[in-house]
Amino acid sequence: MIFVILLTAGGSVLVWLQDRQQTEVFWIAISGAVMAIAMIGRATLPLLMGVAFANFAILFSFALFWTAFRSLRGYRPQANIMIMPALIWLGLYLIPAFRTTFDLRISLSLLLLLIPVSLAARELWLTPQSSPIIRWPVFAILVLQLVLMLQRAVRSLIWPGVADVPFEAVPGFDVLMIDLTVIMLVGNFSIIALAKEKTVRWHHENARFDFLTNVGNRLYFEENLLRHFHRAGKAGQPLALIMIDADSFKQYNDLYGHPAGDRCLQQLANALVNSCRPTDIVGRYGGEEFAVLLPNTGCKAAIAIAERMLRQVQDLRIPHTDRPKGVMTISLGIASLVPGSSRSTPENLVEAADRALYKAKQQGRDRACVADGC
Ligand code: GH3
Ligand code: MG
Ligand code: MG
Repeated sequence: MIFVILLTAGGSVLVWLQDRQQTEVFWIAISGAVMAIAMIGRATLPLLMGVAFANFAILFSFALFWTAFRSLRGYRPQANIMIMPALIWLGLYLIPAFRTTFDLRISLSLLLLLIPVSLAARELWLTPQSSPIIRWPVFAILVLQLVLMLQRAVRSLIWPGVADVPFEAVPGFDVLMIDLTVIMLVGNFSIIALAKEKTVRWHHENARFDFLTNVGNRLYFEENLLRHFHRAGKAGQPLALIMIDADSFKQYNDLYGHPAGDRCLQQLANALVNSCRPTDIVGRYGGEEFAVLLPNTGCKAAIAIAERMLRQVQDLRIPHTDRPKGVMTISLGIASLVPGSSRSTPENLVEAADRALYKAKQQGRDRACVADGC
């Protein structure tokens, strides 16, 4: 058992060394190492010392186990809660009556173990974005573990056990060893799988995120365009697109510098996000251009949203001496169609909104124009 747990913990250390951002893998590896040390202590130390040390270390190992699951959600270790069950155990062990009552000792250490195991199960429950293929079986195993521990704790209190005995003569020893080995294996493998999943999700999200403006990037927009186009076609609902371009932005950069230009783009992105619904898709199309997808939105509603965007940007009152009003403005092109109603494609929608944007630029900027036939 010690060998298997140590090998598993060692494997987790290698995974952690590969990517030290995966702190959950680090904690689960340490949890395994502490569990193995607990078993070595119980087998080699004199009986009373061995019992004290092993139970202390097992409780601490499960606290590290909980910390690993907690770390999955990005939380830091909570040292006081981690050490609490182990310290309670040691405190009780100093009382002679407790020390010499075998059944009470077994029962209380199991009840104390319920704390970190149930906390670990709770963490898993609160990680809803992780894949159910891993989450639910591991959650079920942790709950089963809780039930078994509770049942063992109650059984020890009801049925009198034997007095202090060597390690391997403890009643239910084999089952307990298999149980602890299984939970350590499951813990290590599931944490590695969940950490990998978290990393993949992180990369996936970051690849679709515009670092400067905090809105989605071109890839994010293109993916959503296809998805919403398909969805709207199936539902027979209209899909609107507004293309937005900052006016005379080259001059803005020339007048105020690129860092000011960057701040201006951030403010513009915020204004656009604030002008539409949370379900709308705001993306940076490129440079000083943004694209906003409006699911289930016809032309009339899209025009109202575009006008709100115009007002929001004007209200920012970002000084721009090269513009007639002395403030930064935007131009917008609006298009809306019901996918599937004709031979329409996502490109048609983008082209129509882009042509409308070109019209807005030609007509003097700081306005919204609607695509033909919208
Ligand atoms: P128009 O009103 O016709 O749109 O004129 P414009 O000057 O806005 O258009 P143009 O395409 O000539 O210039 C766009 C400018 O946007 C040029 C480029 O330097 C600037 N730009 C693009 N991306 C960024 C960025 O991330 N930060 C900053 N500061 N400027 C950017
Ligand atoms: Mg442009
Ligand atoms: Mg521009």
